[in-house]
Amino acid sequence: MDNTKKDHRQIGAELDLFSFHDIAPGNVFWHPKGWIIYKTLQNFLWSTLEREGYQEVSTPVMVKSSLFKKSGHWEFYSEHMFNLDVEKESYSLKPMNCPEASLIFATKTRSYHDLPIRLAEFGVLHRNELSGVLGGLFRVRQFVIDDAHHFIRPDQIQSEIHELILLVVKFYKSLGFAPEFYLSTKPDKAMGDEKLWEKAEKDLKEALKKADVKYKVKEKDGAFYGPKIDIHIKDSQGRDWQLATIQLDFQIPEKLELEYVDSDGKGKRPVIVHRAILGSLERFIGILTEHYQGVFPLWLAPLQVAILPITDKHKEHAEKLAKKLGDGGIRVEVDSRAETLQAKIREATLQKVPYIGIIGDKEVQDGNLISVRDRKGNSRSIKTEEFLASLNKEIEQKF
Ligand code: ZN
Repeated sequence: MDNTKKDHRQIGAELDLFSFHDIAPGNVFWHPKGWIIYKTLQNFLWSTLEREGYQEVSTPVMVKSSLFKKSGHWEFYSEHMFNLDVEKESYSLKPMNCPEASLIFATKTRSYHDLPIRLAEFGVLHRNELSGVLGGLFRVRQFVIDDAHHFIRPDQIQSEIHELILLVVKFYKSLGFAPEFYLSTKPDKAMGDEKLWEKAEKDLKEALKKADVKYKVKEKDGAFYGPKIDIHIKDSQGRDWQLATIQLDFQIPEKLELEYVDSDGKGKRPVIVHRAILGSLERFIGILTEHYQGVFPLWLAPLQVAILPITDKHKEHAEKLAKKLGDGGIRVEVDSRAETLQAKIREATLQKVPYIGIIGDKEVQDGNLISVRDRKGNSRSIKTEEFLASLNKEIEQKF
């Protein structure tokens, strides 16, 4: 790592975004400003998904371990799970959402024309990482994945994956990143029907080709339950991160005996697509924090505008302008502490606030002008409405 760059833990402390405490190793305490970033990201993601035919669900954090025994996770995963006894029965904190999403799928008879069904869940997950490997937001015990499960027919694999690839490209582009794709094929220890594997790999290749994205093949690197596509991005320091994943699963539908009624009236197994776009939101925010070095783009900045009255007599007008901006959807605060203007500017600069609005005699007299400084040190005097319009335009652009 470039050692002139700061670690996200240091930035998080300086900007008052989040903290970690010995009382809960590997768990994040989100402060008000950090939680604004978290919610803003999550809301943006959900507003995109809502238009893509997803339905959001929410399932319990703690369920009987028997579900994970049935789904097959227990055999491979129980040592990474938090398990506990409740009234002499074994329960687990869910390490993934899929078995519970499958239970929702199985609550009623599904017809071939109901599919695909796309269930999205920002579920709270727990994985028992050893305390020695925990590392800030990058490796935690409790986290949320922007998770979704698509229940599809085998003949829908190609079109569904094609659409998913386009969604991932669109989403990353809107954040200013260019995703790279990797296709992982059948490992030696694969489970499931040989023909289904063959067809699925062909479909994934075709979907990648149709979406016009370049990809590399990782031979035999797929999961034992199905082939997958991993998506990587590079950050401002040239570091490579695997974030998104699109994973086919032929096993869970078998294990949990999922069915849909096909056009011939017979019960058939659906295929599950597990997919995440950002991956763990905690980890993604850690990556963004280091990528931007705390200089978050306007849409993510916890405080977007700091209004600084020069003296007490400018306070009332400062509050009035701040209200105008706040009503226009801007996160704005008036710094009316009894400090010098220089001290307030220094504070807002250290907090990397995108815009500082200074209110003095001239602004009070005019009634509608605001003297604005950006993070590059450029200053201008601008009408409040114009400033608001330019802020909203910048928020819309995102980067
Ligand atoms: Zn899953």
